[in-house]
Amino acid sequence: MLTTTRLPRFLELAHQRGILILSYYPIIYTKPLKPLHPEWLMQFLDNGRPEIENLGWFCFNSPYRDWLPEYLLEWLDNLDIDGFYFDDTNYGSHEERPFSPSCCCEYCEKLFRKETGLEIPRKVDFDSLDFRHFVNWRYEKMKDFYAPSLPAD
Ligand SMILES: [Zn+2]
Repeated sequence: MLTTTRLPRFLELAHQRGILILSYYPIIYTKPLKPLHPEWLMQFLDNGRPEIENLGWFCFNSPYRDWLPEYLLEWLDNLDIDGFYFDDTNYGSHEERPFSPSCCCEYCEKLFRKETGLEIPRKVDFDSLDFRHFVNWRYEKMKDFYAPSLPAD
């Protein structure tokens, strides 16, 4: 297999020359995981446009959040890469711009209710105060996913 012979040699030669190698990773898009954990997929809000198929966009409020670092650590354990460049850091629906806000999966629903006492919105409605509250909540969840609070020493 090419990757088992060429990639380690490439990494070795790059490191000999002082070059750091980052692997690209679309942080919430893991298409091969879709058949294994469809329950972790984002459920897009109704934005009035035709519904699109979720090809592999995962919700970081689901157990995907814990699965991802374990998966990436496995890469680091098996390849001498220096880190990751993360892409696809959005938290909206996909395929068509403008992207609509986010996810209303069972994990988001439970977390939103627990933290706010509100029912999660199922459709985009900027006239609704609860919806706008949800938009701010999801931004906080996104920030926490990308830069989690570290425990105090
Ligand atoms: Zn969700």
